[in-house]
Amino acid sequence: MQTAGGPGTIEVAVCPPRKERSTETGVDGMKGLRFYIETFGCQMNEQDSLRAGYQLARAGCLQVDSPAEADILVVNTCSIRRKAEEKAYSLLGRFRNLKGRRPDIVVAVGGCVAQQEGESLLERLPQVDVVFGPHHVSEIDRFVERRRAGGERFAVVSQKTDSVDDLECPGISDPKGLKAFVTIMEGCDNFCSYCVVPFVRGRERSRPYHSLLEEARRLTEQGVREVTLLGQNVNAYCAPDRQGFRFPDLLAALSALPGLRRLRFTTSHPKDLSRALIECFGSLGPLCEHIHLPLQSGSDRVLAAMNRGYTRTAYLEKISALRERVPDVAVTSDMIVGFPGEEIEDFEGTLEAMRIVRFDSLYSFKFSPRPSTRAASLEETVSEVEKLRRLHELQDLQKRISLEKNRALEGKFLEVFVEGGSRDGEQWMGRTRTNKIVNFTGPAGLEGRFLQVAIREGCQNSLRGAIAERSVNPEESPTRLSE
Ligand code: SF4
Repeated sequence: MQTAGGPGTIEVAVCPPRKERSTETGVDGMKGLRFYIETFGCQMNEQDSLRAGYQLARAGCLQVDSPAEADILVVNTCSIRRKAEEKAYSLLGRFRNLKGRRPDIVVAVGGCVAQQEGESLLERLPQVDVVFGPHHVSEIDRFVERRRAGGERFAVVSQKTDSVDDLECPGISDPKGLKAFVTIMEGCDNFCSYCVVPFVRGRERSRPYHSLLEEARRLTEQGVREVTLLGQNVNAYCAPDRQGFRFPDLLAALSALPGLRRLRFTTSHPKDLSRALIECFGSLGPLCEHIHLPLQSGSDRVLAAMNRGYTRTAYLEKISALRERVPDVAVTSDMIVGFPGEEIEDFEGTLEAMRIVRFDSLYSFKFSPRPSTRAASLEETVSEVEKLRRLHELQDLQKRISLEKNRALEGKFLEVFVEGGSRDGEQWMGRTRTNKIVNFTGPAGLEGRFLQVAIREGCQNSLRGAIAERSVNPEESPTRLSE
């Protein structure tokens, strides 16, 4: 599972448009209240925050950029690593001061820490009014209303196992209306020994394919050009409403939607990367040439202890098969150092795997034991100092590889989807189909355009370029890397 790291403030764009939504939910006491949402963790959490924002906006509330302006404070937490959890607690500590000055503020805590801790959060943090698990995001407006109406502080963390109603979504894009996430499944059956996800998000549940198609169709009709499919293990997708309809079938069905220029997904499990899925790359036009495929360790011994269900060789074979099909596919990954029992030879195996695969970028972490997981009961054999040393060595190697790979793109023309620019409209930022950031200069009004950009300089984390004369317009079909 990929984690985005630090906190993010989520802005919400809603469909239907703002003027149509204010009277829809019947939560009357909420109109005009201001809400602030802060999000920690992965894209699943970001999407949950968008859905929470959507619910509050439908109830007539207004989103603000600062906690000091808000009547409702929502913290969407992550417990995948100890550091993310600590950051959420630190933020809630600051909210205690705000609540001390304005006791009428409602503080709601959602996400994986909420699921994990439940009512104990209420006991430990008197500033918290409502604790809600990830399966209850769509009820946030009712929860806030209940508390504001004088109800007791409460926690709602039951997990849904027999329905996916809580994942239904009307189609929520980013504030610019260009990109959107669509949650296709939630939960995980893999029980990797270090991971808390199966305990906090529950077992795998897939949404019906017809509602996914409908959501994506609505988004593209409203102008969204890029959709990212989300789930803890998207390639385990299994439509409950059509026998044998799996993830590659879903990709094919979505690729046929008029107006959809780019299709992405995250996160995939290497053991579920099937031949059929590999064959989708290069054959489905909108499917971008990028895969996030967490390796976690380059040692078979450690992979077995992590219960990952594949060997290093099997992983490398899948990367080779992908690259045979699409030589310029970008591969990104997650890596953990200092797992209990990781010897220096195991760590060397990880570095070796990185040299073989040459990831485009990497999310890397020190192991930290998580409650309920099997790894939490293992003896920690790698000191914090050594974990940090290994992490730095691994990150230094990745920085070199990323820079080399980006420099190798100098002189190429890449299709860039322009996502935003500076206020004066001269500096622009977009992404390639391989998900690399490209900065370039250009005239006003480029947002939402697909352009051909000549890459002038490859930097460690991004590319610099110049608009090519043969830029494409939005109606042209997707283009691939070209000389
Ligand atoms: S595949 Fe493993 S790491 Fe990913 S969410 Fe499932 S249990 Fe966690």
